[in-house]
Amino acid sequence: RSTNPPPQPTEYALNRPRRTLGGQKSQLGDTTESLDLTDLQEFMGPIGAEGGRCQPFAVTISEDAVLVMDFHAHLSSCEVIGLLGGTFDTNTKQLVVKGAYPCRRTAGSDSTTSVELDPASQVIVKDEMATDGLIPVGWYHSHPIFEARPSAKDNENQRNYQAFAADKSTGLEPWVGMIIGPYDEQLPTPASHVQAWVVRSQNKNVIPYNIRYQKDPPKARITPALVKRLESALENLVGDPGRLNMQQLWRPFTFYRQGLPEGPAMKRSEKLRAALNSHLPIQDQPDAVSQFHQTIDAMFLKYWGTRLFDSNA
Ligand SMILES: [Zn+2]
Repeated sequence: RSTNPPPQPTEYALNRPRRTLGGQKSQLGDTTESLDLTDLQEFMGPIGAEGGRCQPFAVTISEDAVLVMDFHAHLSSCEVIGLLGGTFDTNTKQLVVKGAYPCRRTAGSDSTTSVELDPASQVIVKDEMATDGLIPVGWYHSHPIFEARPSAKDNENQRNYQAFAADKSTGLEPWVGMIIGPYDEQLPTPASHVQAWVVRSQNKNVIPYNIRYQKDPPKARITPALVKRLESALENLVGDPGRLNMQQLWRPFTFYRQGLPEGPAMKRSEKLRAALNSHLPIQDQPDAVSQFHQTIDAMFLKYWGTRLFDSNA
């Protein structure tokens, strides 16, 4: 049995103030979820190998999908939710996430409860996936202003999804959960926190595990299909109680350097643009990226009636 040392926590994880039940007082924006976050464990050994603590399958995630999730997550102070479409190969134990499909949340679930998929929206999205030649291989949701670690309820939901997706012949459960944290003020840079995870049941406990994944392609491709996904995210949230005013302040600085805040204040619109740029080929295709931002601006005007960026700015 290997005795790998535990991985070093990232600087973000180290500096991040912990909020636990019975710990600090709740803060503005805390929900029943944010007070009940769980600690992710690390898989050990080779991916797909037999053995209790190996990651059960390899995961590849398209940056197109990450961009759509991240965009969706920036739009509401309530948690947003969607499904991940892709493929799974039982023989090679390869799960590939090719696209993210924004869904509506169930009526009545708001910022104070954990988010659930609206069944009607789910049916529509699964049809779209089938048209694209994909199957559902996971789900995502946002933690608008708190850490992208799963709550106990998230772990329960993930366990149920995994059981539903289970392949009876192999015992594999090809279903990955993703959490996007866009507006946590402790983020080291304007890039959002992105977490992929699965759960394992151990001694009646449901334990969350970090999923290691490769990015392919590593930068999002600007295509009509990508734009369509962003449009559906905006359209779904037209009447949303948590719909955000993108002109308001995100935080009074840009990034942390050696633990100290630096750089000018950022509006939410600027935070969104910086986050999107972290997924886009800004080095190789600056003109296409700039055109893409104009397309997004026009989409905000069309669906929400306001521009993302002040035209006089
Ligand atoms: Zn959650």
